[in-house]
Amino acid sequence: MNVNIPVYLDNNATTPVDPRVVEAMLPYFSEKYGNPSSKHTFGYIANAAVDFAREQIANLINADKSEIYFTSGATESINIIHFGIADALFHKGNHIISSDVEHSASYESLLQLQKKGFDVTFLKCDNKGFIHPEQILNAIRPETILVTLIAANNEIGTVNNIKEIGKICRSNNVLFHTDATQAIGKIKFDVQDYNVDFVSFSSHKLYGPKGIGGLFIRKGLEKKITPLVFGGGQEKGIRPGTLNVPAIVGFGKAAELCNQEFDKDFNHTKRLRDHLFKTLVSSLEFVSLNGDKDNRLPGNLNLLIKGVRADSLIANLRDIAFSAGATCSSESGKPSRILKAIGLDDEDSKCCIRIGIGRFNTMSEINYAAEKFIEEITKLRLKFNYQSTI
Ligand code: PLP
Repeated sequence: MNVNIPVYLDNNATTPVDPRVVEAMLPYFSEKYGNPSSKHTFGYIANAAVDFAREQIANLINADKSEIYFTSGATESINIIHFGIADALFHKGNHIISSDVEHSASYESLLQLQKKGFDVTFLKCDNKGFIHPEQILNAIRPETILVTLIAANNEIGTVNNIKEIGKICRSNNVLFHTDATQAIGKIKFDVQDYNVDFVSFSSHKLYGPKGIGGLFIRKGLEKKITPLVFGGGQEKGIRPGTLNVPAIVGFGKAAELCNQEFDKDFNHTKRLRDHLFKTLVSSLEFVSLNGDKDNRLPGNLNLLIKGVRADSLIANLRDIAFSAGATCSSESGKPSRILKAIGLDDEDSKCCIRIGIGRFNTMSEINYAAEKFIEEITKLRLKFNYQSTI
């Protein structure tokens, strides 16, 4: 088998930058290096490139380019909305609705708001990781100022019904933010059709550079947000500071490629993902899927491998890059909050692995990985004399 080792299967953590993106970025480092706010030729060139990138990103999610704001990543975008809306609408109410399956960027910032006196309802997901539209409807109160919910889960890949939830928020006059960091570029995402007011996302999840993020703010709502930082007024004062032009150009190009190659990427990653899953479950006992089989991100697999600790598997399979869950939660060493939320106990949640398949993976890599997974899982079960109790 002709494969490049190590095989990268952690595309939910981050994606490689597409070479076409790198090529688009290069002139903006040392040739077209102007500050987009400068009123001379260098500035105009940089400003035109930023404007073009804004349009490329807007086209991917059916927004208007004036509704796209650049940040340093989804974490910052989410924080701008949470703290910005909480501050601006405090006079109206102090209730925020979210869920127990949010990414830490969202979850931790809401815990901070709780400390400041906001009343945050963390809705409980079902055993597939879904938050159902009627749960949102039942949780809305007169003092609710924001619903903030993950669109597609970064660990288990479950895709929420954002369109229905958006409809409920709109008809109840409640602002709706979604963390679509894993969704955008991977599944269809249309800000008009989905009735969303704010959307956070990141370039490095869609084959663009790291350290650059996007925030969609529906036209007119920017006036409702208190900024987190103050400065030179860039990004209409929502996120001041000199723009990172090369990264923005790369983000724009990456978004354009996701748009143009959407069907190809979707079908390719799903085909490889389904093939890997089928191969593993047909060769190994007591392997099951976490999350939903159908409404999930096309390249995502999250597997419970009974009796095999994810950290042992990761340590023994050095030529395959995959993870035990969210990259940030695996750093803390605690069992995944998401896996516990879908009902796994501590022991089982330590026996789960996340595999993220991306645009550049090949069938040979998947076959190689499958062979290695089967070999190592069998070995570890023998070593620890695993006997299922089911
Ligand atoms: N939200 C989700 C669902 C994510 O997967 C991530 C990154 O893993 C983030 C937010 C944070 O993105 P960033 O690290 O680019 O700020």
